[in-house]
Amino acid sequence: MVDSRHTEALAAAGIDVPEQVTAYVRGRQVAADTAAVALPVINPANEESVTQLMEASDTDVGLAVGAAREAFESGAWPRMSVKQRQAILRDAAQLVAENQQELALLETVCAGLPVAHLTGRQIPRAAENFSFFADYIGLMAGETFEQEAGFLTTVTREPAGVAALVAPWNAPLALASMQIASCIAFGNCCVSKPSEYTPLSVLRLVQLLEQAGVPEGVINVVNGRGPVTGHALVSHPGIDRIAFTGGTATARSIMRDAAAQLTPVHFELGGKSANMVFADADVERAVDGSLINVYSNNGQICIAGSRILVQRPVAEAFIDAFVARVKNLRVGDPMDPLTEVGPLAFAAHRDRVLSYVALAREEGAEILVGGTSAPGFDRGYYVSPTAALVTDNNLRICQEEVFGPFATIQVFDEPEEAIAIANESDYGLVAYAWTSDLALAMTLQSEIRAGTVWINTPLVRDLRAPFGGFKQSGIGRDGPRQCAEFYTEEKATIVPRVTFPIRKMGVD
Ligand code: NAD
Repeated sequence: MVDSRHTEALAAAGIDVPEQVTAYVRGRQVAADTAAVALPVINPANEESVTQLMEASDTDVGLAVGAAREAFESGAWPRMSVKQRQAILRDAAQLVAENQQELALLETVCAGLPVAHLTGRQIPRAAENFSFFADYIGLMAGETFEQEAGFLTTVTREPAGVAALVAPWNAPLALASMQIASCIAFGNCCVSKPSEYTPLSVLRLVQLLEQAGVPEGVINVVNGRGPVTGHALVSHPGIDRIAFTGGTATARSIMRDAAAQLTPVHFELGGKSANMVFADADVERAVDGSLINVYSNNGQICIAGSRILVQRPVAEAFIDAFVARVKNLRVGDPMDPLTEVGPLAFAAHRDRVLSYVALAREEGAEILVGGTSAPGFDRGYYVSPTAALVTDNNLRICQEEVFGPFATIQVFDEPEEAIAIANESDYGLVAYAWTSDLALAMTLQSEIRAGTVWINTPLVRDLRAPFGGFKQSGIGRDGPRQCAEFYTEEKATIVPRVTFPIRKMGVD
């Protein structure tokens, strides 16, 4: 039973939850507009109110963008020495790590993510995002060209300006921190917009960054719904870059808004990734990894290996073991350190995921496990971890992103069939393959149309490598060089080595 013990847990840890969340500009929360819409922020584990979000208006967005522009023009951050900026980013990483319990609790009460998953994985990653980019900017160098005799051409990079950073609710800190770190490391200023469902952890993160020494106004935050506050932010003429992590349909709307100003966009979007288990795989490891690939983060992961494809000779063994383990997953209170799967983030999302269970039945899939609002909970947006057996990859449940604890399982015969099914998707974010055949692994590596291919491993990420999607899974990549290119403008400067004769025009 999950109840107001969550509020007590926060109080016991000395964590202050603001009664209202407004826009955060130049280091403080601004008073909400009298006409501001109040949106409740609900704890998905117990349906209790956590705080009230006062939606940022166009005026609030204008204030935040103006503050970021002023901070940028002042030069305090963009022109700060790289050494000094590195030191601040490293201190920021340290502060995030030191405050990880608070950040995790603030995130859990809004997003329902298991606290152990946050402290064990996502918050340390959020901290690392800052130290990683601190290291990277210390190694960056410009270019020189000397082919034009007598001239030296140098290429330098300058920060692009003010960025709009729009983040989703499924991993609020891990994703917003990647956006903020990769943006400000290169000297930019920004306005972050967390999801309206999860405003608290990002707000606290920004305060910690300022405590580390990021000048006020460099990072501002606006809160509110996407079509209102988000739309006002991405269409603001003072925005030089838009980074967006979220759904593919939202990305289309943002791109239309960006077109008016020709603002460059970086999109990290959805996926419907294949998780292929071949006959020569270590089936036990494939089961272990596939469970993580589908059900971690409460099943709400863009990189979910939610289309499991299994080769016929091991299909029965894999499916039996997988279903048995799914039944055994510890679904429960995300505050409980033993919980493996918590509730979905909000009621409408729970209903959407359950609508895909109904659709699975309509489409003739066999529900092997789960498929209900999780039993044993009188409150909270729980859905029992679900897997459905399918025979046709064209079903909507195999083509549309469910974004919950929901996997389809399809049996195949030949590797070529698995590759074709994996690629039969509008998405192309990642793919997973389980095989002991090196030649097959290398064929998959070259034939799969996705931004990341994981062989015999779940979810390992080296921050130096690019991350992003083929097809409708994104535009651009997260990665140090890729972010440097996105968040800076290149400038070529040409200097003569000697005084040279200039061709004279207009002389008799
Ligand atoms: P979403 O697109 O509904 O919302 C994401 C953010 O965009 C929120 O802050 C929302 O308020 C804002 N938004 C919504 N409409 C907007 C508009 N018209 N203009 C500006 N902003 C707007 O996505 P979500 O439901 O929060 O997140 C789930 C989606 O995100 C899934 O599709 C998932 O796959 C994807 N995702 C991708 C990655 C990745 O790295 N590729 C990571 C996590 C999540």
